[in-house]
Amino acid sequence: MVAGNLVQELDTVVIGSGPGGYVAAIRAAQLGQSVTIIEREAIGGVCLNVGCIPSKALITVGHRYQEVLNSQVFGITTTGVALDFAQAQTWKNEKVVAQLTKGVESLLKANKVQILRGEAYFTGPEHLRVMEEKEANTYHFKHAIIATGSRPVELEGFGFGQRILDSTAALALTEVPKRLVVIGGGYIGSELAGAFANLGSEVTILEGLPSILAQFDEDMVKLVTRSFKKKGVKVVTNARALGAVALGAVALGAVATDDEVQVTYEAKGKTTTIRADYVLVTVGRRPNTDDLGLDHAGVKRSAKGLIEVDRQGRTNVPSIFAIGDVVPGLALAHKASYEAKIAAAAISGDASAVVDYRAIPAVAFTDPELATVGLSAAEAGAAAGAGVSAGADGGVDGGAGAEAGSGVESQAFEVKTAKFPFAANGRALSMDEGNGFVRLISEVGSGRLLGAQVAGHGASELIAELTLAIEAGVSTEDLSLTIHAHPTLSEMVMDAAELADGLPIHVLG
Ligand code: FAD
Repeated sequence: MVAGNLVQELDTVVIGSGPGGYVAAIRAAQLGQSVTIIEREAIGGVCLNVGCIPSKALITVGHRYQEVLNSQVFGITTTGVALDFAQAQTWKNEKVVAQLTKGVESLLKANKVQILRGEAYFTGPEHLRVMEEKEANTYHFKHAIIATGSRPVELEGFGFGQRILDSTAALALTEVPKRLVVIGGGYIGSELAGAFANLGSEVTILEGLPSILAQFDEDMVKLVTRSFKKKGVKVVTNARALGAVALGAVALGAVATDDEVQVTYEAKGKTTTIRADYVLVTVGRRPNTDDLGLDHAGVKRSAKGLIEVDRQGRTNVPSIFAIGDVVPGLALAHKASYEAKIAAAAISGDASAVVDYRAIPAVAFTDPELATVGLSAAEAGAAAGAGVSAGADGGVDGGAGAEAGSGVESQAFEVKTAKFPFAANGRALSMDEGNGFVRLISEVGSGRLLGAQVAGHGASELIAELTLAIEAGVSTEDLSLTIHAHPTLSEMVMDAAELADGLPIHVLG
């Protein structure tokens, strides 16, 4: 064991204060545990400080800016519109991030969670050494929850620096890049590409796969690709980024004045070089499990550094749990928070607290927003378009028996899909947002909802009802019989359910 002052006996210790850690700490405290949370950087983790929340703030600024610029269709002419990006950053930092993180810290304190500032390191299966401000202290704990999250992966040839940025640095930019290259068109890359394009950047996305946003169905991604095209965003798929060189420094003979970067990539057998002000690299994230002393604790990790856990979040060491980005599955904030509550309950002895991943929504805050939960169309086997199609946009497709994936129990389903267009919804049209669809994937016979996708304005909110429906085992008939307020986007859930049941009012069946 590494030396240090043994200062305290701890009951439950949570390492990391992101949406996994702070939620675990609060819930464990509510359940009567004496809780200590350890954080080496900022309370709130990646999500609140440099992830979900600041990215959505900049996305909002981009949307507002574009709305003001493009309101002629409503008879509104605007002149003299200007973007003060410094003010946008101040608003994001002070009114959004700081307010939220301070709120979380207050909640931790109000729930009597002890906050230790420092870096935690396991020195044994029941001991942690924490590098606090002035000294290293050693703590003995009864239970530990590892919630140390993840960090961006660096791409060979693209070492992070002043011009080659990870998402954290991109969110902190003090200027809107004139030209931005985004390497990696996953949801983080695509969201930030869209945000900066809306703010005025000329954006190129280089994606190694045949499609951006590969985790979403093809017909959803098509809408985003079309919108990128309209914004002037160039999307190069099947592209291999080869390297980047910061320019200017050499030419000017000065070290700190590199004001441009040159990116070389290969696509369709051709090597191309482009220049940009900044390159944003978003090619994935790596779990923060390599510098935690897990070997001293005896906690097993996979080759990718992910910690294997059981359905309660328990690692191979019974007193140590792990949640969030350090365990397998979707690296999303709400998954981390969900696992947090299960682990906290398990430590309190609740044997019935186990994860059920059937209904984890995933959202891309792109233009338009994409949201999916449960079975995707591709997984349902319906993507091939087998079956009957009804209406130009609205339609019901009978899908082949599907092997359910993404956390849905592995069993054959006979499924059908119903796709209702935003263009047939009054509220969508009244907002000039008639682009998109709601798709329901349900089991033939029982009508039980197995999956749903929403592509379009407000998809991130609309997916909630559908998530509840899957979680609660609701059928399309239940959704059809639920009265939805008019005029709302949520009526499309009812309309899609009616379409699935063969009784659509607002499209032809
Ligand atoms: P984190 O939030 O990463 O928190 C881990 C914390 O542990 C950090 O604060 C870290 O400092 C601390 N820590 C690490 N090691 C130690 C140690 N040894 N000692 C003490 N403290 C330590 N997800 C969504 O669901 N929706 C979104 O819209 C979304 N947008 C995103 C946008 C961006 C740009 C990024 C980068 C991510 C986004 N995510 C989003 C993903 C989301 O941020 C993560 O899935 C989530 O933060 C994971 O939570 P966590 O609690 O596991 O870890």
